[in-house]
Amino acid sequence: MKTSVAIACEPNRALEIEEMDLEGPKEGEVLVRIVITSLCYADVFTLSAEDLEGLFPCILGILGHEGLSRAEEVGKGVTSVKPGDNMIPLYLPEDPDFPHIKSGKTNVCQTIRQTQGAGLMPDGPSRFSYRGEQLPRYIGISTFIEYTVLTEISFAKAPKEARLSKVSVKVCAVPTEMGLCAKPRRSRWAAMSLSLNSVPPGSPNTWTQWCAPRRKS
Ligand SMILES: [Zn+2]
Repeated sequence: MKTSVAIACEPNRALEIEEMDLEGPKEGEVLVRIVITSLCYADVFTLSAEDLEGLFPCILGILGHEGLSRAEEVGKGVTSVKPGDNMIPLYLPEDPDFPHIKSGKTNVCQTIRQTQGAGLMPDGPSRFSYRGEQLPRYIGISTFIEYTVLTEISFAKAPKEARLSKVSVKVCAVPTEMGLCAKPRRSRWAAMSLSLNSVPPGSPNTWTQWCAPRRKS
């Protein structure tokens, strides 16, 4: 299928709206439409080409890692997501069967860490193709795009009644700062982990509290 994308072609240059090829969901994957995405300092820093971990200026890229999406289609075997669900893409996926997750002591999941960290899907390609060239996903996600595909465990589910305009920054910015305040002596990775990987799909969690509409008392 085709999808619109805001693509970064050169460091420090305005993004360009283009059309790109996207492969649909395979087994265990979900096709979503990004409803809202926000701009984080990490995006700006990567666009500057000063981030030594970033891929610029070597290649084209699709930035964005804070977003709220809506499930459009699910692949074979997906059980926790159905079309219409509000889904939050996660930098660190959370596999409920992974020993670390089962332990309850940490939420650093390694199930598909290697491929998602490299901006790829578990079976290899990223599924993003621009003018015949495969593009990796920024921070394993890339949200400056209309449609995308990620694995089922790469999402947290947001409640139906969520105030969508408020969800996006709560994916990264707000909890990262909360993590830094709560665990000041931990490394930034602790904060990242707390921010983007705190809830498996469907579980009752803080997202529900943060995202639910405020009720007047
Ligand atoms: Zn961010």
